[in-house]
Amino acid sequence: MEKTLILLKPDCVQQKIVGKVIARFEEAGFTIRANKMIQLTDDVLREHYAHIAEFPFYPSVEEFMKETPVVALVLEADGIIDTMREMLGVTDCLEADAGTIRADWGSKEDGKNKMCNIAHASDSAEAAEVEIKRFFSEDEVFSY
Ligand code: ADP
Repeated sequence: MEKTLILLKPDCVQQKIVGKVIARFEEAGFTIRANKMIQLTDDVLREHYAHIAEFPFYPSVEEFMKETPVVALVLEADGIIDTMREMLGVTDCLEADAGTIRADWGSKEDGKNKMCNIAHASDSAEAAEVEIKRFFSEDEVFSY
């Protein structure tokens, strides 16, 4: 079994589609192991997005990710990291395959299509381990 860290971003919260996105995860058979709402800060964003922090677009990502609290989840299933990245679609919502979460609900607006893309999902098992610890303490992740 594999776990992944999901953040439902402010554009997801603002559109009031948190329930729809989580329903899609549950319909896929994923198990919810942890869930809470978090207001992100500059410090945690700089850590979480260290790989893009030097790009010119980073300050706008930081502002966007603080617009509302985000909904964080730990989900579990066999091979969930790859399955989830497929369900989400590529970063640019205009390029994402039809039927993916980013194609269905992400921004198609010029300048926002690469940023306002509904959800973050861990891109490897190593990243998932670090990211789950970043947002959840051990007693917040349930193994029922
Ligand atoms: P992903 O979330 O698809 O794994 P990255 O890790 O490359 O993508 O980037 C992290 C986040 O930064 C993206 O989800 C998106 O919100 C934002 N982002 C990435 N590239 C751009 C860009 N060129 N312009 C604006 N925002 C971007």
